[in-house]
Amino acid sequence: MPEFLLVSCCAPCSCAVIEKLAREKKDFAVLFYNPNIQPAEEYEKRRKENERFCQERNVPFVSLEYDPENWRQAVNGLENEPERGKRCSVCFYFRLKRAMEYAKENGFAAVSSVLGVSRYKDMAQVNRAAKKASEETGVPYDETNWRKGGLEQRRQQLIKETGMYAQDYCGCPFSVRKN
Ligand code: SF4
Repeated sequence: MPEFLLVSCCAPCSCAVIEKLAREKKDFAVLFYNPNIQPAEEYEKRRKENERFCQERNVPFVSLEYDPENWRQAVNGLENEPERGKRCSVCFYFRLKRAMEYAKENGFAAVSSVLGVSRYKDMAQVNRAAKKASEETGVPYDETNWRKGGLEQRRQQLIKETGMYAQDYCGCPFSVRKN
């Protein structure tokens, strides 16, 4: 049984963690389930960049369905919420629950994620959404803080060194931030 499934939103947020786990020869796979990313061209760009990074390190990469309509329904009525607000809680929960369902169906022992890695994110908010999804699916969630242990610095370094595609907004049409 694989040790765990790492949920990734994009290559810039996951690169340092993937590199570390691959070097430590951990038994893990990366899961890309991000119907929040729109438009579809942007989604594909991020997916391919994340896949390329994994392939270069022989890390299994799984991408699930792209279903922005279902995601849109889940956040209906929360369009005007700010980033870190209620819409983001629903968004994290929506993605993590699907990831945990996949983990359960495919024999992974636990799930972790880099959804809270960016300095624009509230890690406690991600952990709360994960806890709810975990209670509902029965799949354990590993709350490791993937910003620590030099990973934030390494992430920035990798983005520069590899010329990685790094987007300037979170993903959904309602996120106005430009990094
Ligand atoms: S800002 Fe980001 S985390 Fe929040 S709802 Fe939009 S895509 Fe999801």
